[in-house]
Amino acid sequence: MRPFTYTRAKDVPAAVNELSENSNAKVIAGGTNLLDLMKIDVMKPRHLVDITRLALSTVEETEEGGLRLGALVTNADTAYHEQVEKRYPLLSHAILAGATAQLRNKATDGGNLLQRTRCYYFYDTSTACNKREPGTGCSAIAGYNRNHAILGHSEHCIATHPSDMAVGLAALDARIRVSGPQVERTIPILDFHRLPGDAPEIDTNLGEDEIITGIELPPKGFAQHYTYLKNRDRASYAFALVSVAAGLELEGGVIKEARIALGGVAHKPWRKPEAEAMLKGEKASRENFQAVADAYVQGAKGFEYNTFKIELARRSIVRALLTAAKIEE
Ligand SMILES: Cc1cc2nc3c(=O)[nH]c(=O)nc-3n(C[C@H](O)[C@H](O)[C@H](O)COP(=O)(O)OP(=O)(O)OC[C@H]3O[C@@H](n4cnc5c(N)ncnc54)[C@H](O)[C@@H]3O)c2cc1C
Ligand code: SF4
Repeated sequence: MRPFTYTRAKDVPAAVNELSENSNAKVIAGGTNLLDLMKIDVMKPRHLVDITRLALSTVEETEEGGLRLGALVTNADTAYHEQVEKRYPLLSHAILAGATAQLRNKATDGGNLLQRTRCYYFYDTSTACNKREPGTGCSAIAGYNRNHAILGHSEHCIATHPSDMAVGLAALDARIRVSGPQVERTIPILDFHRLPGDAPEIDTNLGEDEIITGIELPPKGFAQHYTYLKNRDRASYAFALVSVAAGLELEGGVIKEARIALGGVAHKPWRKPEAEAMLKGEKASRENFQAVADAYVQGAKGFEYNTFKIELARRSIVRALLTAAKIEE
């Protein structure tokens, strides 16, 4: 492990200032991802800014009738929060599908969104990886690529984003509140994470001197008709091969609105609004769900060990929508 300096920030402006004034500085929250990566020399910050004492641990109502989750609320406290369980059960289920009870007690909502990919080569410093060392190449493309992307990948990186919570937030159209030296702003969740393109080392559109202060959930929570379906190699303590967050608004068996977000398939949670729109005004039925699933995976491209994900995604979308619509076959 390399030497680094450490500061405990007393408020948000102080944390932002520490990031602006120190090159190669990183925020530390729960530490469940950052410390692992520092121990194996994948992340090498020279300065750590501890934000755990900032006043960002509350869940509050927003003026529009939604909820604001402070960036330091733990994943466990979010998933079991009375209002989240009642109004956004899709988010509770997505969070509880991730990691373990111990990790969720420590992991924060802000840190969850910024966790790094679980690509095996990213973790192995003896291999080439454009995300870890830009310009060295991508070992996964011709390597073992079982947990890699089928959508939105590039010739430089085929990694996936590992967060379950982010997939739930994508289906809910959440916004990420961030603070920087000049401005406070919110970023729609779908614009928060990036596709790899020719700069896979950059995971998100968060500035280097910005911190996440909260997550805003809009009023609509799809609490009547929702599901989070996670397919993985083990029943627990494993990242998604393919996951689906689905929310439906139904009136007399007819769909007023549909949301479908996929995890485990791309460098960011994957939504396709034009495919979701196909369901508007249609009956909730296997046939219609099948059509939208086909549209979702159109253009998907797999690699030697992960082509199975295309069919898995298609079937998972149909199953998730049937469950959300409470259709038993
Ligand atoms: C064995 C294991 C299994 C796991 N399984 C899953 C799983 O199945 N699904 C899943 O979704 N996750 C899983 N996780 C990941 C876990 O959810 C994340 O490690 C955790 O959410 C990260 O939160 P943290 O607060 O510990 O972040 P940290 O480790 O403290 O930080 C992570 C990154 O975020 C940055 N950061 C943190 N907070 C902020 C902020 N407010 N503003 C700006 N930057 C910030 C840090 O600089 C760092 O780069 C697993 C982790 C482990 C170790
Ligand atoms: S897929 Fe991305 S993270 Fe994995 S080896 Fe290739 S460049 Fe690195």
